[in-house]
Amino acid sequence: MVYLKSAEEIELMRESALIVSRTLNLVAEHIGEGVTPLKLDKLAHEYINDQGAVPGFLGFGGFPNTLCISVNEAVVHGIPNDKPFSSGDIVSVDCGAVKNGFYGDHAYTFAVGEIDLELENLLRITKECLYLGIEQMRKGKRVGDIGFAIQDHAEKHGYGVVRELVGHGLGKTMHEDPQVPNYGKRGRGKKLSDGMVLAIEPMINLGTKEVLMLDDDWTIITADKKPSAHFEHDVALINGEPDILSSFEEVENTLEKRGMNPLRMTLQSISKSVV
Ligand code: MG
Ligand code: MG
Repeated sequence: MVYLKSAEEIELMRESALIVSRTLNLVAEHIGEGVTPLKLDKLAHEYINDQGAVPGFLGFGGFPNTLCISVNEAVVHGIPNDKPFSSGDIVSVDCGAVKNGFYGDHAYTFAVGEIDLELENLLRITKECLYLGIEQMRKGKRVGDIGFAIQDHAEKHGYGVVRELVGHGLGKTMHEDPQVPNYGKRGRGKKLSDGMVLAIEPMINLGTKEVLMLDDDWTIITADKKPSAHFEHDVALINGEPDILSSFEEVENTLEKRGMNPLRMTLQSISKSVV
């Protein structure tokens, strides 16, 4: 069942989403060579608590931490450990927070030190996939239009689109209807309507689309051990148009300040530049 949100509820959800955005910015400030996933997890945990919010993932289905930190071939759901990052790693950081009873849930994939051009392209295209999916979140469109836009752009570049994990409705619970696959057919699936809030989250692999689960029963990795990227925004449909509740702006500003490529893009820039 899809729960449509009122304008007031959407503003509360924006607050939750932006707590996650600022948590990701804290990660952007601290991530680097020699830093451990557990250090980022501790910073995030303290920050979310300081905001009067509760970490959304901690204890969710038994997940042991605040952040999901998925390095290189890990796609999503990585458990933070004490293995330091190395230059050349790509690190997906996914974070949830609950405030006023509503979930925020979004993710960014960071580069550590110098990464190969092939990986920078994977990050850029995956982020473009996210915005191209969001661009479809309009009155009269359907869930399949979002999936089609993401899949089409990723596969045009020869990447694998993960099938087993999908985006989702978001609200008072983390996973609401409808499911939002990163693949699909135009004009198919549930019709989009005002008041929907969706977590749109392409998970795009450099190689095969096939994935496996590690023995920890959480971490999803690519079957060919090639790297994978993941970006996620929380998006409301208001007056027939997408309103992105979360924000990468602070993260991108921080990355730029640190001399890293911010891969800056917006919904407006993407619809003009990508063909
Ligand atoms: Mg997430
Ligand atoms: Mg999600």
